[in-house]
Amino acid sequence: MRLLQPSKACGLNRLNKMDKTKEIWTIGAILKWTGQYFQEKGVDNPRLDAEVLLSHILGQDRLHLYVHFDQPLTRGELASFREMVKKRAGRMSVAYIIGHKEFMGLDFLVSPAVLVPRPDTEILVEAVSTRLGNFAAPRILDIGTGSGAILISLLKSLPSGLGTAVDISPEALAVAKKNAQSHGVNERAQFCLGNVFEPVAGQVFDCVVSNPPYIPDGELAALAPEVRGEPQLALAGGVDGLDFYRRIISEGAIYLAAGGLLVLEVGAGQAREVALLAENTPLKNNAIIKDYAGIERVVLMVKE
Ligand code: SAM
Ligand code: GLN
Repeated sequence: MRLLQPSKACGLNRLNKMDKTKEIWTIGAILKWTGQYFQEKGVDNPRLDAEVLLSHILGQDRLHLYVHFDQPLTRGELASFREMVKKRAGRMSVAYIIGHKEFMGLDFLVSPAVLVPRPDTEILVEAVSTRLGNFAAPRILDIGTGSGAILISLLKSLPSGLGTAVDISPEALAVAKKNAQSHGVNERAQFCLGNVFEPVAGQVFDCVVSNPPYIPDGELAALAPEVRGEPQLALAGGVDGLDFYRRIISEGAIYLAAGGLLVLEVGAGQAREVALLAENTPLKNNAIIKDYAGIERVVLMVKE
């Protein structure tokens, strides 16, 4: 096999030619080139993203890449990789490109109909999981379930838990249902289409969780291109970003058993304002939990 030196052509031109010339690309060479290309395009973690995309195409983990640096890619692999590189250079998130995202150590199916689950949200899941650990069969409601990441990981960690997920997007609910099935919790989960509490009128839960849309409307346009590619329905929280908190906190106690928990993810700088919304309700502030970056991320209330 003839190993040619990668040519001097660069950028999109080089990308378009990648699988058409006789040039042979090894894993090592293509990772180097793609990392640089992504960097030019303003991608946050250029090398990591190149590795994740390539390991996805090869059906191998990232370690495999490092021990097979000299392995040449086939024409088919190159063609598929080129399409993915174009999407990432156009700032589509890696999760949408490969259709998966890891959350709480579990693999979740994602599509552009759902928010890509964030590591920060794992803080909420851990807090709830610890606190519900001594409930016999906790009933959990997840408002705005998206991919189902929160509810499904809670049901995985609480084997006797029973879950209800609400979302106003039928496309998102379809993704959440598939995830519940693949994680074997579908028999303990219900999926309801509708607006906040409307589909669960008359029901009572031990815990209501939500990571609602919380970006102030005026900040939407300035979000990173990857985030702007997520559904506006998953992000827009009204003029000050707090619309959903007002609603969930004012009505929340109706849907909670005595001693039940309301646990909310909040955006940076919102925790204190959200906590104040519980004044004059049966909900009492219990804790504000910080994320890995030290930002107050989760507000926990208890129904007295
Ligand atoms: N829970 C997921 C997570 O943490 O990754 C997704 C959270 S995303 C920030 C908010 C979700 O709320 C979106 O899936 C969106 O479709 C849903 N949503 C927006 N408005 C809603 C409403 N009025 N009622 C119910 N769900 C709504
Ligand atoms: N965490 C998302 C972000 O950083 C926002 C999700 C939400 O509005 N709940 O953009």
